[in-house]
Amino acid sequence: MSPSDVPANIQSLVENAKDLFDKSFSTDPIEGFIHVSTAPGRVNLIGEHTDYTGGYVLPLAIGYGTVCYGRGSIVKRTNGDMKCRVVSMNNPQDVVEFEADPSSVPSVTNKWTNYVQGVVLQYLADLKGDEIFSFDMAIAGDVPLGSGLSSSASLEVATAVFLEALMRESGADALSMKGDRERKKDRAVRCQRAENVFCNVPCGIMVGKSLIRCLMSNCRLNLTIFLFLQDQFVSSAGCQGKLLLIDCRSLDVREVAMGMDNTGCKPVLVVTNSNVQHNLGDSEYPIRVKQCKEATERLALVNSSILSLRDAAMDDIAAASSKGLLDKVLLQRARHVVSENKRTEDTACALEKGDWSRVGQLMNESHTSMKDDYEVSCKEIDILVELAQGFEGVYGSRLTGGGFGGCTVTLVREDSSQRLIDYLKEQYKEKIGTDCTCFKTTPSEGARELHI
Ligand code: ADP
Ligand code: MG
Repeated sequence: MSPSDVPANIQSLVENAKDLFDKSFSTDPIEGFIHVSTAPGRVNLIGEHTDYTGGYVLPLAIGYGTVCYGRGSIVKRTNGDMKCRVVSMNNPQDVVEFEADPSSVPSVTNKWTNYVQGVVLQYLADLKGDEIFSFDMAIAGDVPLGSGLSSSASLEVATAVFLEALMRESGADALSMKGDRERKKDRAVRCQRAENVFCNVPCGIMVGKSLIRCLMSNCRLNLTIFLFLQDQFVSSAGCQGKLLLIDCRSLDVREVAMGMDNTGCKPVLVVTNSNVQHNLGDSEYPIRVKQCKEATERLALVNSSILSLRDAAMDDIAAASSKGLLDKVLLQRARHVVSENKRTEDTACALEKGDWSRVGQLMNESHTSMKDDYEVSCKEIDILVELAQGFEGVYGSRLTGGGFGGCTVTLVREDSSQRLIDYLKEQYKEKIGTDCTCFKTTPSEGARELHI
């Protein structure tokens, strides 16, 4: 591993995972070659609550991720004692064993291993009927858990890359014939399926069964599938220095490079975790989806080409409103989604031009729209956004993710970023009484094998 290729935090995750591996699997080791993989978490810069109406989102892979360090191979199933053994730095005493068998059921006691086992089961179908995966694996990650930055997707995708390495070595690589983009998408689909099927956690956004039913009736099937795929897709296909503008209807993905302004400055993103997640989100989310569906039906009465909010323009909203077709709430919801889609496309253009002031302005407008029109913010998030927006060197700041807590994302000059972090921590403690956590990131590389 060349130190210049691998960020310092990922290098230290590799070292931690290696130490844990050596400690945990020194007795009776499973045979095979050592493989190391890594996959990042992700954050959405702009384009919130636009995905389920076929609109645009603009996420990036962050510089924090999960590392899988392991040794293994593909063996004949007849070796009944062959197992997969996994251990995580989060629980270093606890080595968990499971069988890579299609009849396996999710663990109730070691829920985190379901993310690994679920992915293993997705790849099992590519092996010959009498073959099975057998490996020892140690895991280390630095994506904050459960804050909407997709630590689960990064664990799944890093596991997938590890398994692909085992398969390639044994000549069982089913994905090898695919192009790079197809391969990354295929991997993301498998990981998303693993999470939904084996971990029973509909992912990407916090959803309940009612939302899924609603989506199924509202959207084309491929949209529904892709909607839940974003976390894993960005983790799999993220690019150094680039964001991914995803069209959730056509499923087209455009890589958006962060340009340079005329002073040669490239800002950084500060992600701030409020460390609160209000339960209200669970019930409010399906309500928002339903309201978007209703608003679409009303707007279609003034413009029959509107099949989802993605098709609507501000003029359509004004026309429907003047005819009394939209009540106050539906007007607000439609206004957020329609304006947010435009902001997201505009942000991609401004990023490419290095027009940071414009990007910041669009981010600020997005926050106001989420707060006032979509009503998914909360006190803690509004305080963080307000503090950041008023800080010198900040271009813009907004809530990221589904809302009712979670994280904010702030675009800031690199040379002001540390002062901003210190300020946010101090002020949040003073105003809310608890700690927020902050980290800096720029668009980072997606999942890959590390050759050490
Ligand atoms: P998010 O994906 O937003 O971080 P989730 O609830 O979807 O939140 O996933 C978090 C879960 O993923 C954790 O509770 C844990 O089960 C699993 N996980 C993620 N990273 C690791 C890791 N390094 N070690 C063990 N489990 C992990
Ligand atoms: Mg998750």
